Amino acid sequence: MARWRPTRRQVLTHGATAAGALAVGSAATLAVSDWAAEGAMAPGPPPGALLDDASRINPTAVRGVLYAAPAPDDTARVVGPLLRRITAGDDPALAVAGVRHSMGGQSMLAGGWVLDTRPMNQISLDSASRVVRVGAGATWRDLIPVLNAAGFSPKVMQSNHDFSVGGSLSVNCHGWHTDHPPIAATVRGLRLLTAAGEVVSCGPTENTELFGLVLGGYGLFGVILEADLDVWPNARYVPHFDSVPALDYVEEFTRLVLAPDSTAEMAYGRLSVDPRSFLEEAVIVRFTPEADTVGAVLPLAAPDASSLQRAVFRNSAGSSLGKMLRWTLEREAAPWLAGPISRNSIQNEPAAVFADHSAETSDILHEYFLPHATLAKFITAAREIIQRSGQELLNVTVRDVRRDTRSALAYAREDVFGLVMNFRQERTAEADARMRTLTRELIEAVLEVNGTYYLPYRLHATREQVRRAYPGWDAAMAAKSRMDPLPVFRNALFDAYA
Ligand SMILES: Cc1cc2nc3c(=O)[nH]c(=O)nc-3n(C[C@H](O)[C@H](O)[C@H](O)COP(=O)(O)OP(=O)(O)OC[C@H]3O[C@@H](n4cnc5c(N)ncnc54)[C@H](O)[C@@H]3O)c2cc1C
Repeated sequence: MARWRPTRRQVLTHGATAAGALAVGSAATLAVSDWAAEGAMAPGPPPGALLDDASRINPTAVRGVLYAAPAPDDTARVVGPLLRRITAGDDPALAVAGVRHSMGGQSMLAGGWVLDTRPMNQISLDSASRVVRVGAGATWRDLIPVLNAAGFSPKVMQSNHDFSVGGSLSVNCHGWHTDHPPIAATVRGLRLLTAAGEVVSCGPTENTELFGLVLGGYGLFGVILEADLDVWPNARYVPHFDSVPALDYVEEFTRLVLAPDSTAEMAYGRLSVDPRSFLEEAVIVRFTPEADTVGAVLPLAAPDASSLQRAVFRNSAGSSLGKMLRWTLEREAAPWLAGPISRNSIQNEPAAVFADHSAETSDILHEYFLPHATLAKFITAAREIIQRSGQELLNVTVRDVRRDTRSALAYAREDVFGLVMNFRQERTAEADARMRTLTRELIEAVLEVNGTYYLPYRLHATREQVRRAYPGWDAAMAAKSRMDPLPVFRNALFDAYA
């Protein structure tokens, strides 16, 4: 990636430096920032410091946490000595972490080092070229206000703003932007710190093999330092709601959203978890832009941590009545309550709005990707499997994800619908074992109809299921052995399946 010097440049460096870096969950470890200059290891925390991820059932004793610097080149200088020590066999391997919202240890390594990238959060927008250069530790929460002030918006991101750009690229996230592949398609180039300690550029026409491996590569091919991402005009959107039978989802979505005259730019579906219509009814919500607001600088609504929204969602946990009430509100009341809202305001929402904070239970996500032709078959199979399992399904949304031609480990190998399922489980080993059984059954059902599943969640698939779901898995691991033979970069996903 050529060094890029925008003419109309807006540089904003956000202040998540030392203070932010120290606020890292339960890590009893301290930043290591100046030992690199001396070429020596920091005294370091006692081995056994515990980190966890968004699952809250994954406490992992790590060797310690190393913090990125705000500038990517400084991060490369900070991390370089550790990479040399790992290569020399003097230190354990390194896992790369963003916000640790993955749920199976993808951002952690038992006994290993963890690089917390969050301080590396500089942002520089080139409005004329419609591209933003973002430090990999920046979150969408950091980025959205910067883009909003110039009339732009992220082109593809998840449904919430909490995630780091590096973590989003490394899982190759998708959102609910209509007619878009996952985020890989929006990357013009990136800079990567390799296992050999070199900073290399890659992009659609440069180091293309490495580019495809890094996007959706779960931190196994190097540390993404920064990326150049396409941006999209912000606009005020008008919401539209339609209730449809779940088994007719594809036909109805095609008619409402994919028709040639449709102007919808964002759309998602929700399936009923109300016991009276479990996975039988759906609502499709689509957003169309008001033409005179496209590209305008619009007010950005503050992140909505609405206590009402949260109360309705959390009170449906563990309660059939709560689920019936929520479905009635989602289907009947939401169309009356919702009004025009900007694209950025929709995306500027924290995952915390709905998160489970209870000491006894955790919300666990699954996602299954289906070709259009087999979505209804999978919904029918999943309905039977989930009801038989007795596990509690709290929420299901449906996303339109277009074919991905960039990632070596692509999950959207054709146009697919993603079914995001949010289960609630107890935080015990027994409950996790029951969830493993359910997950393997759902993966079997999705594989039977030519679908696949998403890798950032619990590592419950068998080694064989991973290879059937990702036919490129073994080739990607062979490339890993060639590029990082030791390996220097490891995490729980690699240890489980490589
Ligand atoms: C509530 C919730 C909602 C979600 N919604 C969506 C959604 O709508 N769409 C979707 O696609 N996904 C969704 N996800 C999944 C989410 O996109 C991933 O878990 C994502 O990785 C989270 O980003 P993070 O910063 O927490 O990454 P982490 O969990 O910290 O890391 C994830 C992976 O990225 C690697 N990584 C992180 N930073 C770097 C870097 N700089 N260089 C190299 N590797 C790196 C890590 O090693 C790890 O393997 C959701 C997750 C949750 C918990």
